[in-house]
Amino acid sequence: MKILISNDDGYQAPGIVALYEAIKDLAEVEVVAPEHNNSAKSNALTLHSPLYVHQAASGFRYVNGTPADCVHVALTGLLGYRPDLVVSGINNGANMGDDTIYSGTVGAAMEGYLFGIPAIAFSQTQKGWAHLDAAARKARELVQRMLAGPVSEAAPWLLNVNIPNLPYAELKPFRVCRLGRRHAAEKVISQTSPHGETMYWIGGAGPAKDSAEGTDFHATAQGHVSITPLKVDLTDHDGLSAWVQAATHLGQAGEAGR
Ligand code: MN
Repeated sequence: MKILISNDDGYQAPGIVALYEAIKDLAEVEVVAPEHNNSAKSNALTLHSPLYVHQAASGFRYVNGTPADCVHVALTGLLGYRPDLVVSGINNGANMGDDTIYSGTVGAAMEGYLFGIPAIAFSQTQKGWAHLDAAARKARELVQRMLAGPVSEAAPWLLNVNIPNLPYAELKPFRVCRLGRRHAAEKVISQTSPHGETMYWIGGAGPAKDSAEGTDFHATAQGHVSITPLKVDLTDHDGLSAWVQAATHLGQAGEAGR
């Protein structure tokens, strides 16, 4: 078995080092990760500047690009083989609910999934790396279980995993959840630059809006490790027939399937 590891916090982040150390004996494991912090880069690919790959003394390879760049380059030429599993993380902070749209941690895993390879994105729910050893141990357990079975099944899958920052003994079992929802993000923060110009900082993510039972927010608040299977199809399937009806009023151009 072969595993590719990436992340969005950069190849020197404690989370990716802990993840590598936790699973390196389970398979042939290689790390290809961003040179710098690329959090919130989602699935972005770099198309208008070249990418360079260097190797650190640790053996980790790092790229002057996004998380998706790293996995893309690894899968399309750098590795020279097809890994059985792509894992991403462990991220410095939660990727729950709407976070998954923005997350570079999820983006790296999703790039593997788009190439037909099973993938897992791991995040700790709080920033700061508290109890990272426990999170790495949980990640190892899940990877080990997946390598023993589901990896070899035909259809690829994508799991989003969030681990509370708790000591291992206090972590409750894995729980499969749907994504919750967040409120809109906090306000942008404006400041005056030393040159007298107004500059803006993107504000924090919004608080949970839907954290009902069955969501990732709820499960992790109870101390469980949440697992949400993700898919990429953004079609609003529930709204599809209503939109077909609405479109008929727009004339021929609105006919379904055109
Ligand atoms: Mn990050």
